[in-house]
Amino acid sequence: MPQASSTIVSNTANLQKYLSLPQGGKVIAEYVWIDGSNGLRSKSKTLSKKVEKVEDLPEWNFDGSSTGQAPGDNSDVYLRPVAFYPDPFRLGDNILVMCETYMSDGKPNAYNFRHDAAIIFKEHSKAEFWFGLEQEYTLLDEFGWPYGWPKNGFPAPQGPYYCGVGTSKVFCRDIVEAHYKACLYAQIDISGTNAEVMPAQWEYQVGPCPDISLGDQLWMSRFILHRVAEEFGVKVTFAPKPIPGDWNGAGLHTNVSTKDTRAEGGMKAIEAAMEKLSTRQAEHMAVYGSDNQLRMTGKHETASYDKFTWGVANRGSSVRIPRAVAAANKGYFEDRRPASNGDPYQLTGIIAETMYGKVDG
Ligand code: ADP
Ligand code: MN
Ligand code: MN
Ligand code: MN
Ligand code: MN
Repeated sequence: MPQASSTIVSNTANLQKYLSLPQGGKVIAEYVWIDGSNGLRSKSKTLSKKVEKVEDLPEWNFDGSSTGQAPGDNSDVYLRPVAFYPDPFRLGDNILVMCETYMSDGKPNAYNFRHDAAIIFKEHSKAEFWFGLEQEYTLLDEFGWPYGWPKNGFPAPQGPYYCGVGTSKVFCRDIVEAHYKACLYAQIDISGTNAEVMPAQWEYQVGPCPDISLGDQLWMSRFILHRVAEEFGVKVTFAPKPIPGDWNGAGLHTNVSTKDTRAEGGMKAIEAAMEKLSTRQAEHMAVYGSDNQLRMTGKHETASYDKFTWGVANRGSSVRIPRAVAAANKGYFEDRRPASNGDPYQLTGIIAETMYGKVDG
Protein backbone atom coordinates (compact mmCIF):
# COMPACT_ATOMS: atom_id res chain seq x y z
CA MET A 1 0.00 0.00 0.00
CA PRO A 2 1.36 3.47 -0.81
CA GLN A 3 2.44 5.67 2.06
CA ALA A 4 -0.15 8.11 3.32
CA SER A 5 0.54 11.36 1.54
CA SER A 6 -0.60 14.83 2.44
CA THR A 7 -4.25 15.36 1.54
CA ILE A 8 -3.36 18.77 0.09
CA VAL A 9 -3.16 17.93 -3.58
CA SER A 10 -3.63 21.44 -4.93
CA ASN A 11 -3.79 25.00 -3.76
CA THR A 12 -7.09 26.53 -4.80
CA ALA A 13 -6.34 29.83 -3.03
CA ASN A 14 -3.31 30.44 -5.27
CA LEU A 15 -5.30 29.34 -8.31
CA GLN A 16 -7.82 32.15 -7.80
CA LYS A 17 -5.62 34.95 -9.16
CA TYR A 18 -4.95 33.04 -12.38
CA LEU A 19 -8.61 32.14 -12.85
CA SER A 20 -9.46 35.84 -13.01
CA LEU A 21 -6.84 36.69 -15.67
CA PRO A 22 -8.38 37.99 -18.91
CA GLN A 23 -8.40 35.46 -21.77
CA GLY A 24 -7.81 37.85 -24.68
CA GLY A 25 -11.22 37.18 -26.18
CA LYS A 26 -10.64 33.43 -26.31
CA VAL A 27 -13.04 30.87 -24.87
CA ILE A 28 -12.13 27.57 -23.20
CA ALA A 29 -14.40 24.63 -23.99
CA GLU A 30 -14.03 21.54 -21.78
CA TYR A 31 -15.06 18.56 -23.95
CA VAL A 32 -16.53 15.82 -21.73
CA TRP A 33 -17.27 12.23 -22.76
CA ILE A 34 -18.09 8.82 -21.28
CA ASP A 35 -15.19 6.34 -21.36
CA GLY A 36 -15.01 2.54 -21.62
CA SER A 37 -15.61 1.88 -17.92
CA ASN A 38 -18.67 4.01 -17.16
CA GLY A 39 -16.41 6.88 -16.12
CA LEU A 40 -15.90 10.37 -17.49
CA ARG A 41 -12.98 11.98 -19.31
CA SER A 42 -12.41 15.51 -20.52
CA LYS A 43 -9.95 17.73 -22.30
CA SER A 44 -9.76 21.44 -23.00
CA LYS A 45 -9.96 23.31 -26.29
CA THR A 46 -9.38 26.99 -27.04
CA LEU A 47 -12.02 28.56 -29.26
CA SER A 48 -11.78 31.96 -30.94
CA LYS A 49 -15.20 33.25 -29.89
CA LYS A 50 -18.21 32.83 -27.63
CA VAL A 51 -20.36 29.82 -28.45
CA GLU A 52 -24.03 30.59 -29.16
CA LYS A 53 -25.30 27.23 -30.37
CA VAL A 54 -24.09 23.63 -30.36
CA GLU A 55 -23.40 23.79 -34.12
CA ASP A 56 -20.68 26.39 -33.40
CA LEU A 57 -18.64 23.69 -31.65
CA PRO A 58 -16.11 21.82 -33.82
CA GLU A 59 -15.85 18.03 -33.83
CA TRP A 60 -12.70 16.84 -32.06
CA ASN A 61 -10.97 13.56 -31.28
CA PHE A 62 -8.99 11.65 -28.66
CA ASP A 63 -6.85 8.54 -28.27
CA GLY A 64 -9.39 5.79 -27.66
CA SER A 65 -6.68 3.23 -26.90
CA SER A 66 -5.94 5.16 -23.70
CA THR A 67 -9.53 5.06 -22.46
CA GLY A 68 -10.50 1.46 -23.27
CA GLN A 69 -12.60 2.65 -26.22
CA ALA A 70 -10.56 1.64 -29.28
CA PRO A 71 -7.68 -0.63 -30.34
CA GLY A 72 -4.17 0.85 -30.63
CA ASP A 73 -4.01 0.35 -34.40
CA ASN A 74 -7.23 2.33 -34.98
CA SER A 75 -7.26 4.57 -31.97
CA ASP A 76 -8.90 7.81 -33.11
CA VAL A 77 -12.31 8.29 -31.56
CA TYR A 78 -14.31 11.35 -32.57
CA LEU A 79 -16.07 13.72 -30.19
CA ARG A 80 -19.34 15.23 -31.41
CA PRO A 81 -20.73 17.99 -29.17
CA VAL A 82 -24.41 17.53 -28.26
CA ALA A 83 -24.98 20.05 -25.45
CA PHE A 84 -23.06 22.76 -23.62
CA TYR A 85 -23.31 24.45 -20.22
CA PRO A 86 -21.74 27.51 -18.54
CA ASP A 87 -18.48 26.37 -16.90
CA PRO A 88 -18.76 26.84 -13.09
CA PHE A 89 -14.99 26.37 -12.67
CA ARG A 90 -13.63 28.81 -15.24
CA LEU A 91 -16.60 31.19 -15.39
CA GLY A 92 -16.97 33.88 -18.07
CA ASP A 93 -17.85 32.63 -21.55
CA ASN A 94 -16.09 29.32 -20.89
CA ILE A 95 -18.21 26.20 -21.26
CA LEU A 96 -18.53 22.49 -20.47
CA VAL A 97 -19.41 20.47 -23.56
CA MET A 98 -21.15 17.08 -23.48
CA CYS A 99 -20.04 14.90 -26.39
CA GLU A 100 -21.01 11.68 -28.13
CA THR A 101 -18.22 9.35 -29.32
CA TYR A 102 -17.91 8.00 -32.88
CA MET A 103 -15.50 5.73 -34.75
CA SER A 104 -13.71 6.65 -37.99
CA ASP A 105 -16.24 4.61 -40.03
CA GLY A 106 -19.01 6.88 -38.73
CA LYS A 107 -20.49 4.26 -36.36
CA PRO A 108 -21.13 5.14 -32.72
CA ASN A 109 -18.45 3.96 -30.30
CA ALA A 110 -19.35 0.79 -28.35
CA TYR A 111 -19.89 2.90 -25.22
CA ASN A 112 -21.96 5.59 -26.92
CA PHE A 113 -25.37 4.71 -25.47
CA ARG A 114 -26.77 8.16 -26.24
CA HIS A 115 -26.93 7.40 -29.95
CA ASP A 116 -29.70 4.76 -29.69
CA ALA A 117 -31.54 6.58 -26.91
CA ALA A 118 -31.73 9.76 -29.00
CA ILE A 119 -33.34 7.78 -31.85
CA ILE A 120 -35.95 6.33 -29.48
CA PHE A 121 -36.84 9.75 -28.07
CA LYS A 122 -37.04 11.32 -31.51
CA GLU A 123 -39.39 8.59 -32.70
CA HIS A 124 -41.56 8.85 -29.57
CA SER A 125 -41.41 12.62 -29.15
CA LYS A 126 -45.21 12.86 -29.09
CA ALA A 127 -45.20 10.92 -25.80
CA GLU A 128 -43.53 13.97 -24.17
CA PHE A 129 -41.42 12.05 -21.67
CA TRP A 130 -40.15 13.78 -18.55
CA PHE A 131 -37.59 12.15 -16.27
CA GLY A 132 -36.41 13.11 -12.78
CA LEU A 133 -33.50 11.04 -11.44
CA GLU A 134 -32.39 10.72 -7.82
CA GLN A 135 -28.62 10.27 -7.96
CA GLU A 136 -27.20 8.65 -4.84
CA TYR A 137 -23.44 8.47 -4.29
CA THR A 138 -20.86 7.87 -1.58
CA LEU A 139 -17.84 9.98 -0.66
CA LEU A 140 -14.62 8.13 0.15
CA ASP A 141 -11.37 9.21 1.77
CA GLU A 142 -7.96 8.74 0.14
CA PHE A 143 -7.88 5.12 1.36
CA GLY A 144 -11.23 4.30 -0.23
CA TRP A 145 -13.13 4.14 3.10
CA PRO A 146 -16.34 6.21 3.52
CA TYR A 147 -15.37 9.73 4.46
CA GLY A 148 -15.55 10.46 8.18
CA TRP A 149 -15.93 6.79 9.20
CA PRO A 150 -13.56 5.57 11.93
CA LYS A 151 -10.36 4.11 10.45
CA ASN A 152 -10.66 0.31 10.41
CA GLY A 153 -14.10 0.58 11.95
CA PHE A 154 -17.73 1.48 11.56
CA PRO A 155 -19.92 4.35 12.72
CA ALA A 156 -23.00 3.83 14.90
CA PRO A 157 -25.84 1.99 13.08
CA GLN A 158 -28.04 3.74 10.54
CA GLY A 159 -30.79 5.98 11.84
CA PRO A 160 -29.54 9.50 12.58
CA TYR A 161 -27.91 10.17 9.20
CA TYR A 162 -30.72 10.50 6.62
CA CYS A 163 -31.36 14.25 6.13
CA GLY A 164 -29.19 14.64 9.22
CA VAL A 165 -27.59 17.74 10.64
CA GLY A 166 -24.68 18.09 13.02
CA THR A 167 -21.17 16.82 13.58
CA SER A 168 -20.80 13.03 13.27
CA LYS A 169 -24.15 12.81 11.48
CA VAL A 170 -23.13 14.26 8.11
CA PHE A 171 -19.79 14.35 6.34
CA CYS A 172 -18.55 16.65 3.56
CA ARG A 173 -21.52 18.98 3.37
CA ASP A 174 -19.03 21.48 1.87
CA ILE A 175 -18.70 19.30 -1.24
CA VAL A 176 -22.47 18.87 -1.50
CA GLU A 177 -23.05 22.64 -1.26
CA ALA A 178 -20.31 23.40 -3.79
CA HIS A 179 -21.73 20.84 -6.20
CA TYR A 180 -25.28 22.20 -5.80
CA LYS A 181 -24.20 25.78 -6.59
CA ALA A 182 -21.94 24.67 -9.42
CA CYS A 183 -24.82 22.74 -11.03
CA LEU A 184 -27.16 25.74 -10.75
CA TYR A 185 -24.48 27.93 -12.32
CA ALA A 186 -24.11 25.40 -15.15
CA GLN A 187 -27.90 25.59 -15.72
CA ILE A 188 -28.36 21.93 -14.79
CA ASP A 189 -31.96 21.35 -13.64
CA ILE A 190 -30.85 20.12 -10.22
CA SER A 191 -34.02 19.94 -8.14
CA GLY A 192 -32.69 19.23 -4.66
CA THR A 193 -30.24 17.36 -2.45
CA ASN A 194 -30.27 15.41 0.82
CA ALA A 195 -28.03 13.39 3.13
CA GLU A 196 -28.69 9.66 2.82
CA VAL A 197 -29.34 6.75 5.22
CA MET A 198 -25.71 5.57 5.20
CA PRO A 199 -23.27 8.18 6.58
CA ALA A 200 -21.10 9.77 3.83
CA GLN A 201 -23.81 8.89 1.32
CA TRP A 202 -25.73 11.71 -0.36
CA GLU A 203 -28.37 12.24 -3.02
CA TYR A 204 -29.25 14.96 -5.47
CA GLN A 205 -32.04 15.03 -7.99
CA VAL A 206 -31.94 16.19 -11.60
CA GLY A 207 -35.21 16.90 -13.40
CA PRO A 208 -37.85 16.77 -14.51
CA CYS A 209 -36.12 17.05 -17.90
CA PRO A 210 -37.58 16.07 -21.26
CA ASP A 211 -36.33 13.11 -23.29
CA ILE A 212 -32.59 12.86 -23.99
CA SER A 213 -31.73 16.05 -22.08
CA LEU A 214 -32.05 14.17 -18.78
CA GLY A 215 -29.14 11.92 -19.75
CA ASP A 216 -27.04 14.88 -20.91
CA GLN A 217 -27.67 16.83 -17.73
CA LEU A 218 -27.20 13.89 -15.36
CA TRP A 219 -23.87 12.93 -16.93
CA MET A 220 -22.70 16.53 -16.74
CA SER A 221 -23.81 16.75 -13.09
CA ARG A 222 -21.67 13.67 -12.39
CA PHE A 223 -18.71 15.31 -14.10
CA ILE A 224 -19.19 18.42 -11.96
CA LEU A 225 -19.38 16.26 -8.81
CA HIS A 226 -16.11 14.45 -9.57
CA ARG A 227 -14.49 17.77 -10.43
CA VAL A 228 -15.66 19.49 -7.21
CA ALA A 229 -14.67 16.53 -5.01
CA GLU A 230 -11.23 16.48 -6.66
CA GLU A 231 -10.61 19.98 -5.28
CA PHE A 232 -11.41 18.70 -1.79
CA GLY A 233 -9.21 15.59 -2.17
CA VAL A 234 -12.26 13.34 -1.79
CA LYS A 235 -13.32 10.43 -4.04
CA VAL A 236 -16.82 9.92 -5.38
CA THR A 237 -18.09 6.38 -5.90
CA PHE A 238 -21.30 5.41 -7.66
CA ALA A 239 -20.93 1.76 -6.56
CA PRO A 240 -24.44 0.41 -5.77
CA LYS A 241 -23.34 -1.40 -2.59
CA PRO A 242 -20.14 0.26 -1.42
CA ILE A 243 -20.20 -1.37 2.04
CA PRO A 244 -21.65 -4.88 2.44
CA GLY A 245 -23.95 -5.72 5.32
CA ASP A 246 -26.43 -3.53 7.16
CA TRP A 247 -25.62 -0.37 5.21
CA ASN A 248 -27.92 1.04 2.53
CA GLY A 249 -26.87 0.71 -1.07
CA ALA A 250 -26.99 3.55 -3.60
CA GLY A 251 -29.61 3.85 -6.31
CA LEU A 252 -30.73 6.05 -9.14
CA HIS A 253 -34.51 6.16 -8.66
CA THR A 254 -36.02 7.10 -11.99
CA ASN A 255 -39.23 9.14 -11.94
CA VAL A 256 -41.14 8.96 -15.20
CA SER A 257 -44.11 10.72 -16.72
CA THR A 258 -45.58 11.28 -20.16
CA LYS A 259 -48.19 13.61 -21.54
CA ASP A 260 -50.76 10.82 -20.88
CA THR A 261 -49.76 10.09 -17.27
CA ARG A 262 -49.82 13.80 -16.46
CA ALA A 263 -53.27 14.34 -18.01
CA GLU A 264 -56.53 14.03 -15.99
CA GLY A 265 -57.09 10.36 -15.15
CA GLY A 266 -53.44 9.64 -16.05
CA MET A 267 -53.36 6.79 -13.50
CA LYS A 268 -54.78 4.59 -16.27
CA ALA A 269 -51.70 5.27 -18.42
CA ILE A 270 -49.46 4.54 -15.41
CA GLU A 271 -51.22 1.19 -14.90
CA ALA A 272 -50.74 0.38 -18.60
CA ALA A 273 -47.03 1.19 -18.21
CA MET A 274 -46.81 -1.16 -15.20
CA GLU A 275 -48.30 -3.95 -17.31
CA LYS A 276 -45.59 -3.41 -19.95
CA LEU A 277 -42.70 -3.04 -17.50
CA SER A 278 -43.70 -6.29 -15.78
CA THR A 279 -42.98 -8.28 -18.96
CA ARG A 280 -39.36 -7.09 -19.35
CA GLN A 281 -37.78 -7.36 -15.88
CA ALA A 282 -34.59 -9.14 -17.01
CA GLU A 283 -34.00 -6.80 -19.97
CA HIS A 284 -34.36 -3.73 -17.76
CA MET A 285 -32.08 -5.11 -15.05
CA ALA A 286 -29.43 -5.80 -17.71
CA VAL A 287 -29.04 -2.05 -18.31
CA TYR A 288 -29.87 -0.73 -14.82
CA GLY A 289 -26.25 -0.72 -13.63
CA SER A 290 -23.57 -3.28 -12.71
CA ASP A 291 -23.38 -5.03 -9.31
CA ASN A 292 -27.04 -4.13 -8.78
CA GLN A 293 -27.81 -7.64 -7.45
CA LEU A 294 -25.62 -6.77 -4.44
CA ARG A 295 -27.96 -3.86 -3.69
CA MET A 296 -31.33 -5.38 -4.65
CA THR A 297 -31.63 -7.85 -1.82
CA GLY A 298 -35.22 -7.08 -0.86
CA LYS A 299 -33.88 -5.29 2.24
CA HIS A 300 -32.88 -1.64 2.78
CA GLU A 301 -35.82 -0.25 0.79
CA THR A 302 -35.15 -2.39 -2.29
CA ALA A 303 -37.19 -4.98 -4.17
CA SER A 304 -36.22 -8.40 -5.51
CA TYR A 305 -33.72 -8.40 -8.39
CA ASP A 306 -35.72 -11.01 -10.32
CA LYS A 307 -39.37 -10.15 -9.85
CA PHE A 308 -41.28 -7.02 -10.92
CA THR A 309 -43.71 -5.53 -8.40
CA TRP A 310 -45.43 -2.19 -8.04
CA GLY A 311 -47.53 -0.45 -5.44
CA VAL A 312 -48.74 2.84 -4.04
CA ALA A 313 -46.29 4.33 -1.50
CA ASN A 314 -44.42 1.00 -1.27
CA ARG A 315 -40.64 1.52 -1.06
CA GLY A 316 -40.09 -2.24 -1.16
CA SER A 317 -41.52 -2.64 -4.66
CA SER A 318 -39.76 -2.27 -8.03
CA VAL A 319 -41.95 0.70 -8.88
CA ARG A 320 -43.57 3.03 -6.38
CA ILE A 321 -46.55 5.20 -7.21
CA PRO A 322 -46.26 8.19 -4.86
CA ARG A 323 -49.30 8.51 -2.57
CA ALA A 324 -49.99 12.02 -3.92
CA VAL A 325 -50.06 10.68 -7.49
CA ALA A 326 -52.62 8.01 -6.59
CA ALA A 327 -54.71 10.66 -4.82
CA ALA A 328 -54.59 13.04 -7.81
CA ASN A 329 -55.19 10.10 -10.18
CA LYS A 330 -52.41 11.42 -12.45
CA GLY A 331 -48.71 12.24 -12.44
CA TYR A 332 -45.60 10.03 -12.50
CA PHE A 333 -44.17 6.73 -11.29
CA GLU A 334 -40.85 5.98 -9.58
CA ASP A 335 -38.78 3.09 -10.94
CA ARG A 336 -36.65 2.24 -7.88
CA ARG A 337 -34.60 -0.50 -9.56
CA PRO A 338 -31.74 1.40 -11.26
CA ALA A 339 -28.38 1.32 -9.47
CA SER A 340 -26.45 4.52 -8.76
CA ASN A 341 -23.94 3.62 -11.51
CA GLY A 342 -26.65 3.10 -14.15
CA ASP A 343 -26.30 4.92 -17.46
CA PRO A 344 -29.18 7.41 -17.71
CA TYR A 345 -29.23 7.16 -21.53
CA GLN A 346 -29.68 3.39 -21.38
CA LEU A 347 -32.25 3.35 -18.65
CA THR A 348 -34.46 6.20 -19.87
CA GLY A 349 -34.14 4.71 -23.36
CA ILE A 350 -35.38 1.26 -22.37
CA ILE A 351 -38.26 2.73 -20.35
CA ALA A 352 -39.41 4.71 -23.41
CA GLU A 353 -38.96 1.63 -25.61
CA THR A 354 -40.93 -0.61 -23.22
CA MET A 355 -43.80 1.89 -22.97
CA TYR A 356 -43.98 2.96 -26.63
CA GLY A 357 -42.29 0.25 -28.68
CA LYS A 358 -38.96 -0.57 -30.30
CA VAL A 359 -37.52 1.63 -33.02
CA ASP A 360 -35.60 0.28 -36.00
CA GLY A 361 -32.26 2.08 -35.73
P1 ADP B 1 -38.28 10.56 -3.05
O1 ADP B 1 -39.48 10.80 -2.21
O2 ADP B 1 -38.37 9.29 -3.83
O3 ADP B 1 -36.98 10.68 -2.30
P2 ADP B 1 -37.36 12.96 -4.52
O4 ADP B 1 -37.97 14.21 -4.07
O5 ADP B 1 -35.96 12.69 -4.12
O6 ADP B 1 -38.35 11.74 -4.16
O7 ADP B 1 -37.37 12.92 -6.11
C1 ADP B 1 -38.54 12.98 -6.83
C2 ADP B 1 -38.21 13.53 -8.19
O8 ADP B 1 -39.29 13.25 -9.06
C3 ADP B 1 -38.05 15.03 -8.29
O9 ADP B 1 -36.77 15.45 -8.01
C4 ADP B 1 -38.42 15.32 -9.73
O10 ADP B 1 -37.26 15.45 -10.53
C5 ADP B 1 -39.16 14.08 -10.17
N1 ADP B 1 -40.49 14.41 -10.70
C6 ADP B 1 -41.46 15.16 -10.13
N2 ADP B 1 -42.52 15.27 -10.94
C7 ADP B 1 -42.23 14.55 -12.05
C8 ADP B 1 -42.92 14.27 -13.27
N3 ADP B 1 -44.15 14.73 -13.50
N4 ADP B 1 -42.28 13.51 -14.19
C9 ADP B 1 -41.07 13.03 -13.98
N5 ADP B 1 -40.36 13.25 -12.85
C10 ADP B 1 -40.93 14.01 -11.90
MN1 MN C 1 -0.68 14.38 -27.48
MN1 MN D 1 -35.07 11.03 -3.10
MN1 MN E 1 -32.53 8.35 -1.66
MN1 MN F 1 -36.87 7.92 -4.45
